[in-house]
Amino acid sequence: MKIISAIFGDCSHREQKQHMQYTYSSKLLEEAVEEFATLPGIGRKTALRLVLHLLKQEDKEVEHFGNTILRMKQEIITCKVCHNISDKEVCHICSDPYRDKSTICVVESIRDVMSVENTQQFMGTYHVLGGIISPMDGIGPADLTIESLENKARTGLCKEVILALSTTMEGDTTNFYIYRKLKPYEVIISTLARGVAIGDDLEYADEVTLGRSILNRTSFEETFKNSNHGT
Ligand SMILES: [Zn+2]
Repeated sequence: MKIISAIFGDCSHREQKQHMQYTYSSKLLEEAVEEFATLPGIGRKTALRLVLHLLKQEDKEVEHFGNTILRMKQEIITCKVCHNISDKEVCHICSDPYRDKSTICVVESIRDVMSVENTQQFMGTYHVLGGIISPMDGIGPADLTIESLENKARTGLCKEVILALSTTMEGDTTNFYIYRKLKPYEVIISTLARGVAIGDDLEYADEVTLGRSILNRTSFEETFKNSNHGT
């Protein structure tokens, strides 16, 4: 009885915490909580709240919840062109006739594709590397999709490659490696402008960022035009 009331929050906070960590009234409940707690950012307390929420739902709703996750895991594939996650062999971006296939934005992960897409400023296509070169983590060029990128350059269909990787040492190493690989082909290689963020005070920008901002300065007229979408 005490355990049940602990689960439903009828006892003191201290007791609740103790029961949630060590005592469950059901082995099945405990296993479900343990599974949810394996997810990133989910502690046991949150896991228990989520499991109890599911327990209160209709069977068919929980079945739908479980099946959705299972289907996602079993049926999702990667686009054979850009290596982004997709439901079809070629993703909706690569198969969009309005996207510029000759401009390819190279990113580390699918989350970066989502970030650039959210800006609604880029009408080219992507190439997902699947990580960056990091000897410390045992990730070398062969573990990434660099060869597939080189093939795109070789075919001559790609005119510009925009390197949009992390501004870390690993990111710079990967940029340089790709630059060397693509150099023999007729491809313009560019990187994202790195500089002071919008809304930042200059006095708070670190010297590397500020230094790069000065070196990569752009024409004021261009900035004005871009911020007005060329109108
Ligand atoms: Zn694609």
